[in-house]
Amino acid sequence: MFRVAYVNGRYRPYREAMVHVEDRGYQFSDGVYEVCEVREGHLVDERRHLARLRRSLDALKMAAPMTDAALATVLRETVARNRVRNGIVYLQVSRGVARRDHAFPAAHTAPAIVVTARQLDRSRQEREAAEGVAVVTLPDNRWGRVDIKSISLLPNILAKQAAREQGAREAWFVDRDGFVTEGSSSNAWIVAQDGTLLTRPADQGILRGIARTVVLDVVKGHGLRFQERPFTLEEAYRAREAFMTAASQIVLPVVRIDGRPIGRGMPGPIATALRHDFHQYAEVSRA
Ligand code: PLP
Repeated sequence: MFRVAYVNGRYRPYREAMVHVEDRGYQFSDGVYEVCEVREGHLVDERRHLARLRRSLDALKMAAPMTDAALATVLRETVARNRVRNGIVYLQVSRGVARRDHAFPAAHTAPAIVVTARQLDRSRQEREAAEGVAVVTLPDNRWGRVDIKSISLLPNILAKQAAREQGAREAWFVDRDGFVTEGSSSNAWIVAQDGTLLTRPADQGILRGIARTVVLDVVKGHGLRFQERPFTLEEAYRAREAFMTAASQIVLPVVRIDGRPIGRGMPGPIATALRHDFHQYAEVSRA
């Protein structure tokens, strides 16, 4: 399969797509990113992803590499050139290329940008959602600004690897007070014993997931009982249902946490309905 990556103004064959050794993303993880779902060749929630990108850039005092309209063109062009029908498009912006020095480079340093796109196996994803997945939990040892979608992901990487080594799909972080924060690359939800849907408020303890925002709209549309409040690991163990959300997998039911079956140990009706109706509420770019 012929793949193409956009790198700093050029579409390059995947094998030849390179960044500079002094790119601050490579040297310092000094950058931000977005992952947007592609469905039937169209970008899902592009506007919200670009708005969050801008927020991340602003939070780190980084310049935007181009206007949102230009970024949208690059995203769509990368999707089209890679012939992605169902999958993801990845966008990364770093603070640019400059001689290695921790402090910011000169103000005229241009941000560096990379965009890639790839197909995901839709039927495999559907099978996974139909069966539900396992999650393990770990202490949340990340920095205080996880609301910024930064490419500095070491704790997330270690957590995901720990999950994989225990045969689980995802790791949920738990804060010092025993409350679940979020997954290593997803937001965490439960349906509590009284039937209330719970997810942590998007304060600085989590990333404000775009799929999370869409699911909140689905929840409101269905008139479901919900509360944005932190829930404890104990509540999660006793939950009727659990699931996670992310742009790449929308709503994924969780059937085991730390080896304990959740509810009846199979995907629950609420998670299944939210997954089913997700795209009725997401924004699809038709251009
Ligand atoms: N939380 C973390 C730490 C993530 O890395 C992600 C996605 O990568 C999410 C939440 C979900 O965000 P979104 O729904 O925008 O994909």
